[in-house]
Amino acid sequence: MDKNWKITVWGVRGSAPAPYQEFMEYGGNTSCVSVRRKNHMVVFDAGTGLITLGREWDTQTDMRLDILISHLHIDHVMGLFLFQPLFAADMEIHLYGGTGLEQKMRQLLSPPWWPLGVQDFKAKLYFHEIQAGDRFELGGFAVSTMAGNHPGGNILYRLESDGKRLVHALDCESDEGTFERITDFAHGSDLIIWDANFTAEDFKESWGHSTWEQGLKAGHEAGAGRVLMTHYSHGYTDNFLREQEREACKDALCIFAKERMEIIL
Ligand SMILES: [Zn+2]
Ligand SMILES: [Zn+2]
Repeated sequence: MDKNWKITVWGVRGSAPAPYQEFMEYGGNTSCVSVRRKNHMVVFDAGTGLITLGREWDTQTDMRLDILISHLHIDHVMGLFLFQPLFAADMEIHLYGGTGLEQKMRQLLSPPWWPLGVQDFKAKLYFHEIQAGDRFELGGFAVSTMAGNHPGGNILYRLESDGKRLVHALDCESDEGTFERITDFAHGSDLIIWDANFTAEDFKESWGHSTWEQGLKAGHEAGAGRVLMTHYSHGYTDNFLREQEREACKDALCIFAKERMEIIL
C-alpha cells in the first residue's frame, strides 16, 4: 500500500475551460493531474483543475506539495489565481518550470491581471527554474525532463521511484523526430499522460498538439503499461468523446481521462 502511487485527474481540457452541461461527463476544467506517493504530492500543471484540488486540500496536513509546470500557456497556469493553499500560512509550495518562471509568474499573478499578487500569498512559495534535459530528485522521485514540440517551448516530465515510471507529455506535437524522442523518454513507463487534443481527423499541423491515435502508437513503441488521453479540445462534447473513447479503447492500453478519475500504480 505504501508504495502505491495515486494518480488523480483534476482537469482534462486544453486551451480553455468548457463549463457546459454537455461536457460534464469528461469535465470542463483545464489541465491538472496529481501523483500522490506516501506523504508527497506532485502536480502536473496548474490549469483550472488545480482550483478543485485546492478546495479539497487539507492545509493542516504535512503533505509535501510540488507543482511541475510544462509551460506557461494560460490554460496550464490559470488555476494558481484561485489555489487556496497559497493563502494558508503554514503551507510551503514549490513551483518548477522553465527559464524565467519566477519573473513571468510574478508578472502574471499581480494587478491588473488579478487583484491579488504573489506578495499577498501567505504560503511560502518557492520558484525553481529548470531546463529541458535537467534531472533532479524530488522527495524520493527521480525526475527527468525533455524538451517537447510546442509553440514557445515546453517541458515533458518523467517520474521514477519504487520501480515505477510515469511520463507527462503535455502539450506536445509528435512530428517524426519528436515522436521518437518521446518513445525513448517514455520507454517502459507504467503510464504515459498523453496530449489527445485532436483526433487524427481534426489534426492541425504546427499547433503543438497530438492525437489519441499517436498516443496508442507511442504507448506500444515505448512498451508502456497504459496511456492516459487528456487535454481534449475545449470543443469536444461528451457525445463526441464517448465515440472516440469507444473506438480508441478497443486497444487495452487506452484510458480516456475524466475529471476525478483515480488510477493506482
Ligand atoms: Zn494546453
Ligand atoms: Zn500550450
